[in-house]
Amino acid sequence: MPIRQLSQSLINKIAAGEVVERPASVVKELMENAIDAGASRVDVSVEKGGMDLVRVVDNGHGIATEELPLAVASHATSKIIDADDLFRVHTLGFRGEALASIAEISRTIVRSRTHESPAGAELEVAGGTLGAVTPCGCPPGTLFEVHNLFFNTPVRRKFLRTVSTEFGHVSEAFTRIALAAPHVHFTLRHNDRTVFDLPASEGQLDRIARFFGRELADHLIYVESADGDVRLSGYVAHPSQSRSNNRMQYVFLNGRHIRDRALQHALTEAYRGLLTVGRYPIAFLQFAMPPDLVDVNVHPTKLEVRFQDSGRLYSQLLSTLRGKFLTTDLDTRVRTPDEGAEPTGPDDRARQMRQELVDWAKGEVASWHRPEGAHPETGPGFSAAHTPASTAVSPLSLTRIDRPWTPAARAACPLPPHSADTAAEPPTEAPSKPAGRLPGLQVHNAYLVTETDEGVTIIDQHALHERILYEQLRSRIEAGPIETQQLLVPEPVDLGVAEAAAALDNRELLEQLGLRVEPFGGDTVLISGYPAMLANLNPSEVLREVLDRILAGGKQPERRDLLDDLLHSIACKAAVKAGDRLTPDEISELLRQRHLVQDAHHCPHGRPTALVFTRAELDKQFRRT
Ligand code: ADP
Ligand code: MG
Repeated sequence: MPIRQLSQSLINKIAAGEVVERPASVVKELMENAIDAGASRVDVSVEKGGMDLVRVVDNGHGIATEELPLAVASHATSKIIDADDLFRVHTLGFRGEALASIAEISRTIVRSRTHESPAGAELEVAGGTLGAVTPCGCPPGTLFEVHNLFFNTPVRRKFLRTVSTEFGHVSEAFTRIALAAPHVHFTLRHNDRTVFDLPASEGQLDRIARFFGRELADHLIYVESADGDVRLSGYVAHPSQSRSNNRMQYVFLNGRHIRDRALQHALTEAYRGLLTVGRYPIAFLQFAMPPDLVDVNVHPTKLEVRFQDSGRLYSQLLSTLRGKFLTTDLDTRVRTPDEGAEPTGPDDRARQMRQELVDWAKGEVASWHRPEGAHPETGPGFSAAHTPASTAVSPLSLTRIDRPWTPAARAACPLPPHSADTAAEPPTEAPSKPAGRLPGLQVHNAYLVTETDEGVTIIDQHALHERILYEQLRSRIEAGPIETQQLLVPEPVDLGVAEAAAALDNRELLEQLGLRVEPFGGDTVLISGYPAMLANLNPSEVLREVLDRILAGGKQPERRDLLDDLLHSIACKAAVKAGDRLTPDEISELLRQRHLVQDAHHCPHGRPTALVFTRAELDKQFRRT
């Protein structure tokens, strides 16, 4: 076959093959043109998944009547002039090919009017053949209607899928653009049904909530960083929220949605260890950089771009996310009660704090029982030598306590002024051997009754569990100095006059407890560091708790006493309460651990945990002797 110059029509059809894959491509190109025209409102409506009609109406700057034929001509654009402009692209389009391609394979109607012009004009292009430009009445802005896509390329029309599949693609294209341009009011209609109506909003978060739900949006983590001219900002989901594919990873470059393998990889890397295999993180990330740092002219639909320094972006993304995760209390967020509802009132806060304490203490206790090596963060100062003697005991799994932690509950579990290290009396009775004995019985949901060598023992379940937890916490702390965790953002705490004075007067003492405070003016102090072991607790609550103790005791308390008080209140909050029904397994675990604590006879407050009726006493009472 001889070499021939292809006709313009065929050239356009070939170009259309690259740019227009399906109705969603038309939606994308027309929406991008509207944004490039500075529109503040864009209405998209499609029929039959866009196969019959795609209509996009905008209120942008419009096209001058005499330029209408040029707009739909190939290689005609108002967005660049010379080759250097390719590296100064601030618009979404620049190739001048989209409209020509679309008009070649459909029946396209364009109606447009500039804001200066008293009237608009209309042009129809059918399969690439231009009609006449005729005047028409229309508001300023531009309307495009693309009818019967692929009507003259039947093979391509056959590749289209079902209406719902095509509309799915349309909706996805719409979502990407609407996410990138939150300041524009967008609507999407399908077969006369409004699918989205998104008024202009300040930021992307609102849009995310509209598309993916409040629940997801409320749990996103904001990230931000700058590396030279490259700015990264956006939202990533908490690891508890993930997907089984990577479709919820939206990356935008200078307002353009892109796909980039390296950045996707960085995202996966950042979540390594936080997600189970086969789960993908959710992210909405925007990169902003000078246009000359990126070549957007490497892909017909510009979905892929080429960065000048892809490695730098990779490390920026990875380090930004890792840094954020290290300083974010991911655990606490997972445990936020009420399925994500933020605490509102003081009761909710108290309940949340108490639940966190309980979870933390249970988690800690449970983790100590894991075999060596299974502990994810066995660090120096927490070697097996320091673990309590109860290493071999399996963790207690106790009934969830639903009583709120209120001042009344606190009063029910009072701390004596100087309850430091109660001299540990060795157990006076021989440890019982559960084997062959009656298992423990719970009575009144508050006491455990058990048979021992000596006779019968009645145990206060709360007092015993509290003692066990307390001793376990204490041996953890005795294993090493209290590590202070630096707060990335120091937390201001408003205190009473006396509390503020006590906080500043006792800075050294607080520092020994791992609490670093600084004056902030008035009765406000700044917490800049707090005990790492209390990472899941609210720093200001911890500070108040300690200040309470400082103010309660007449004389200056010792570090040891304060620390002890903290442990007491943690143990008290975490322990089962009177009124909690225990399962037989829980009862026997509790009884089993009883023999492993140093002072099984007293709760940390010095109250007895058990009463013993000796066999001799019973015999005497029943006149058997
Ligand atoms: P490109 O966007 O790459 O320039 P297009 O074929 O999409 O190429 O559009 C060609 C030209 O038509 C644009 O450069 C622009 O000047 C004009 N145009 C297209 N759509 C609109 C619109 N909605 N409002 C104003 N002008 C438009
Ligand atoms: Mg365009």
